[in-house]
Amino acid sequence: MSEKEQEVRLAGQTISQGVVMGSAFVYREILESLEPWDIEEHQIEEELRRIDEALKTVAEDLRVSAQRIEGDTNAGLAAIFQAHEAMLQDPALRREIGDLVKKESVSATHASARVFRRWERKFREMNEKTHREHADDMADLGQRLLREMTGVKTTSLEKMPKGRVLVARRLLPSDTVALPRNAAAGIVVEFGGTGSHAALLAEALGIPTVAQVPGATEKITDGDEVIVDGFRGRVVVHPDKATRERYTKEIQEGKEQSARLQFLARNPARTSDGTEIVVMANVGCREDVAAAADNGADGVGLYRIEQFYLAHKTPPAMKELLEELRRMFAPLKGKPITVRLLDLGGDKPLPFLKLPPEDNPFLGRRGVRFLLRYPDLLDSQVEALCQYSEEQDVRVLVPMVTLAEEMASLRDRFAATAKRKGLKKIPSLGAMIETPAAALSIAEIKAHADFFSIGTNDLTQYTMAAGRENPLVSDYFREDHPAVLRLIRIIVEEAGDTPVAICGELARKLEIIPTLLKSGVRNLSVAPPLIPDVKETVRQVALESVGKTFRQACFR
Ligand code: PEP
Ligand code: MG
Repeated sequence: MSEKEQEVRLAGQTISQGVVMGSAFVYREILESLEPWDIEEHQIEEELRRIDEALKTVAEDLRVSAQRIEGDTNAGLAAIFQAHEAMLQDPALRREIGDLVKKESVSATHASARVFRRWERKFREMNEKTHREHADDMADLGQRLLREMTGVKTTSLEKMPKGRVLVARRLLPSDTVALPRNAAAGIVVEFGGTGSHAALLAEALGIPTVAQVPGATEKITDGDEVIVDGFRGRVVVHPDKATRERYTKEIQEGKEQSARLQFLARNPARTSDGTEIVVMANVGCREDVAAAADNGADGVGLYRIEQFYLAHKTPPAMKELLEELRRMFAPLKGKPITVRLLDLGGDKPLPFLKLPPEDNPFLGRRGVRFLLRYPDLLDSQVEALCQYSEEQDVRVLVPMVTLAEEMASLRDRFAATAKRKGLKKIPSLGAMIETPAAALSIAEIKAHADFFSIGTNDLTQYTMAAGRENPLVSDYFREDHPAVLRLIRIIVEEAGDTPVAICGELARKLEIIPTLLKSGVRNLSVAPPLIPDVKETVRQVALESVGKTFRQACFR
């Protein structure tokens, strides 16, 4: 065996769990070594203009990327691009680059590279973890700007063949857009921690990832056989026969375990002492519905209708909406389908509706506040849902409820529509509990609601006063903070026998599920691929020890 083929083990930090074996694709940033060049005095104006143009184009690109990704439902990443756009528009940055061009007579590219490197270094040397993570933001912005100035628009990452193990110094947000979905089988990076951009991408896509592997891009060569062990935070290069066999077995067992849990997920989930817990799916498109059916969803706990609306240039008519609902949920015929009314606000404009700008859109006209202001948009949904509920068990969720009278208005609207259409009943109406005010007014809201569904994503941001899309305060955005868990307990207790579900991201946290069930929650709704694991976790929970009875029953 030649020296090159000796097995090498590299230690790192687990970012995303799982094990994978594959051939390495080593990615190098093309602009790592940019040659400086000097300019003449008469060229200064031209160089300053280049900076301004590049800043403008990159800001525009970032805005487009943020919108595209938001439509793709990766709100975290979209927020990063929005933050980048703001950083880029900081006049101090433009001043610093311009001053360097003028004082040292260097090119715009050279000056920009120096300024961004300086900022990257400053952030990397800071004590606070969140500040250190801004080093990546600066590096990414610098790369974007330099690419724009030099006309080098693509990265080799876009051409990475599917199924390879990506090895990089770091992954920046712009790289994550270039990386085609599901292209990488595993990821190894030299920098980045659990809060890094690489982590965000890897977790969302379920790609086994190990970070903080110093010198990975030097020690691993393109085409090397690599094992990414995202359970133990380890990378094995050129595995020997014994290692390869051991990991092949582990990968196979992992696949079998997933298949076993997926099979078991077709059955209802009961705690070890027999309490049935309904596990439904959060969906936004047809692929999600197919995945929900494959993964044993007991129904749909949250259909986010926004994607359908965002894809339209004119407001969809009632008939169009009804057709979409029929097509969309055909694979789940006979199961309960919970449709949330359009949840928009000043922060997410509709292509066909020019909304007035708001100072603080998250505290503005969102959800039901928006719906009540645009009755035409509301009525087409109400009519389609009344009609659809004649064919399927349909439940309707009202987003962002704060006041009991909002639910009363919605109920009146449904009743009026049903009467006009000659229908005998209206669908069950549920209130999304996403604001502390609603959580503390369950007794009043209950008079107008058939069920509740807790949106822990928004409930967390409003309780913790930390924007869910603001990476600068991600340390405060704690979905399992005692304050949030306490609100959940209050909601369940005040709800009595009105069913309460959780459809926010908290429901996917396997380690928190026992706490939620012991608080009396009997319905969970999560992304379809997580259903088998959630059901399996439920089966391990014993509720007898709680010593308390709840009037909550599961809402089938
Ligand atoms: C929530 O806020 O928890 C929720 C489920 O709604 P969304 O994430 O769509 O705002
Ligand atoms: Mg919400």
